Amino acid sequence: MMRLRRFCALAALGAALIVPAQLFASGSKEAAPASAPTPAAQPAAAPSVKYVFLFIGDGMSMSQINSAEVYSAALATKDVTVKKLGFSQFPVAGLTTTYDAGSIITDSASAGTALATGHKTLNGVINMDPGKTVAYKTIAEYAREAGKKVGVVSSVSIEHATPAVFYAKTPSRGNMYDIAVQLTKSNFDYFGGGGFAQPTGKNKDQPNVIDLAKAAGYRYVNSKADFDALKAGAGKVLAVNATLQDSSAMPYDIDRKSDDLSLADYTKKGIELLSDDPEGFFMMVEGGKIDWACHANDAASAIRDTLAFDAAVAEAVKFAEQHPAETLIVVTGDHETGGMSIGFAGTQYSTFFDKVGVQKMSYVAFDANVLKPYKAATAKDKAKLEDLAPAIKDAFGLDVLAMPQIQREQIDRAFKRSMGNEVERAIKEEEYLFYGGYEPLTVKITQLLNQNAGIGWTSYSHTGVPVATFAKGARADLFSGYYDNTDIFKKLVDAMAIKASM
Ligand SMILES: [Zn+2]
Repeated sequence: MMRLRRFCALAALGAALIVPAQLFASGSKEAAPASAPTPAAQPAAAPSVKYVFLFIGDGMSMSQINSAEVYSAALATKDVTVKKLGFSQFPVAGLTTTYDAGSIITDSASAGTALATGHKTLNGVINMDPGKTVAYKTIAEYAREAGKKVGVVSSVSIEHATPAVFYAKTPSRGNMYDIAVQLTKSNFDYFGGGGFAQPTGKNKDQPNVIDLAKAAGYRYVNSKADFDALKAGAGKVLAVNATLQDSSAMPYDIDRKSDDLSLADYTKKGIELLSDDPEGFFMMVEGGKIDWACHANDAASAIRDTLAFDAAVAEAVKFAEQHPAETLIVVTGDHETGGMSIGFAGTQYSTFFDKVGVQKMSYVAFDANVLKPYKAATAKDKAKLEDLAPAIKDAFGLDVLAMPQIQREQIDRAFKRSMGNEVERAIKEEEYLFYGGYEPLTVKITQLLNQNAGIGWTSYSHTGVPVATFAKGARADLFSGYYDNTDIFKKLVDAMAIKASM
């Protein structure tokens, strides 16, 4: 009942928010993706592509891509238009289904297994069959056997599901220490980005994986100066970002200090370290926090990480311009996250993406820098929303004291919930629907800010919609059409002229 009332009230709020002049302003529809025929068979002697990039935007479907495009345009002009990303202008585009062996809605482990090995498996499984007895060989391992150097870059921890599917096999993505140990034994040439979530194991009683990596011959760098000093010929490299934020991930790009390394820096360095091999390289680069921001329904952070991901792709494009006939760049997502949509009931046919443009920090930074210290310093019965209003205004551009009543009620309830206890994580169904296990005040702020901008969310989890795949360069034509995520492995195998035993 309570939920029903809230939704009805929201609809009433929506009616109040309509700007009549803009009601039908953004009705232009993107052309439906052409249902291209299956690419014609290539001549049997198609040469092997020397340099192959696979970029994976975690949680990135067309909503995330197009939101970044609408956002970029909204900051630059009042015109109703989009500013395309670099990779969304690639000459070849395709659509990719993401369902796994057990669910229409995949997770990053089963989606990654499909991309890296061509096999569907269950949620949570890294490169093993649903029965968890057969291990699959990955595209990165095939590339290495073919004599290429191999790099794996991620903005989240380097033993997280998506990077893990390129070098590890384990029944559960939760076996993070086991995955990390497999990393040290992979013999891959370059790992860059985030650190390790469990460097000494779940119980903190195992040898540190950094030491294991060093013993296996990896040069470990953990500062910008050491990273910048790395040159071709450096040998096997494990580069962990000096600043780590949540769960040993790189900071959200919205929180990144200007002199901190970016995903583009890690990509550029990878190119420098890997491109001296006569057989070329295979490099996977993951924008992992697009997904995390979408889980938390924080559009500004997701959009900024999508733009940072695009900047990383731009480094590959620069390299491809030097080696156009020998380079293939593929950009895809592993699944959609959050049920993100451009359009919200309360804003109908209008969007106001400039409103998310004023957000200065991620939900994680707000929790850590503003809410946590306030909670620590303030007795429950003394806490007042007014105390935090200036900080909320500064961080999100949202004036909680001047909100429509229906929004203010939601903020008041969330504030009380945040101040009442330590965060109770999703105990009851209703609590989960309201806050998804996140800090109630913060998730409610980003949800309302996003709604004001015309951005809707349906979930704190992944969804089952297909993702977009873009390609440029040698054999890019393989990636047009509407196909399954397992086909991406097959197309990469084809492009690299690898004989894979499926
Ligand atoms: Zn996710």
